[in-house]
Amino acid sequence: MSGYLVTGSASGIGAAVCERLLDDGENVLGLDRQDADIVADLSTVSGRRGAVEQALEAFPEGLDGLVCCAGVGSTSATLSLIPEVNFFGSIELLEGLAGALQRRRGAAVLVSSNSAPQATDEAYLQALINGDREAVAARIAELSGHAAYCGSKQALARWMRQQAPAYARRGVRLNAVAPGYTRTAMTAETEQHPEYGDAIREFLATIPLGRAGEPSDVANAIGFLLSGEAGFVCGSLLYVDGGHDAMFRPDNI
Ligand code: NAD
Repeated sequence: MSGYLVTGSASGIGAAVCERLLDDGENVLGLDRQDADIVADLSTVSGRRGAVEQALEAFPEGLDGLVCCAGVGSTSATLSLIPEVNFFGSIELLEGLAGALQRRRGAAVLVSSNSAPQATDEAYLQALINGDREAVAARIAELSGHAAYCGSKQALARWMRQQAPAYARRGVRLNAVAPGYTRTAMTAETEQHPEYGDAIREFLATIPLGRAGEPSDVANAIGFLLSGEAGFVCGSLLYVDGGHDAMFRPDNI
């Protein structure tokens, strides 16, 4: 029997990944703060440790795949949740489950964002990647929610690239997706926002493929990265954004 763990499974992209894997006949457990097979809070060190313990118990024969979708958006009322959930909540879970993935030569997919390139605060990025909690706290006090969010997603993509070769030598493929604007609970609020709603609609009209993403668009890309068809894909950041990043940064390869 296969074994897949998906975080952020109660909503949006994580829920769509679970659906896609279940449709493929896989054995999937979801992890979230609520409404999940494994209930855990990925915003704290103790919550993450508890999540790893529960997952190891649930998958005693190891994991074929781990997908880290849980995240909070740039409008989070508590800014420190952004790096804690989006960055540390992904990498600490992955590190805790690396042995379980190695046992089954599994694959992991992290969820970055096509807004990641907008992060410019190198001190914040380095603090995240180095796991320097004090420096993260000091920098975040100076940042907007948007900068904190983009930074958490760029650090995640960079961390993935830095770690992918070592994971590969252990037989684990590590990749990430960079979704563009995707219709989920996270984006619904901003679209209805009296102040930002019009700007969001104008922004959506610039997506080259002419529409916003759906959770299934991202889930299909993640399903591919987890599958045997992606058996030689490792250390890649796959944009799933209707061509937006190519439009904004055509010379970036
Ligand atoms: P969503 O709000 O629909 O789902 C996020 C899920 O994460 C929720 O079920 C929530 O309960 C869970 N979560 C949040 N904090 C948690 C915690 N402390 N512990 C455990 N679970 C927690 O959002 P979504 O749009 O599906 O986002 C999924 C991922 O995709 C996020 O990492 C997000 O940053 C990323 N992303 C989304 C978009 C977009 O446009 N929707 C674009 C780029 C990247």
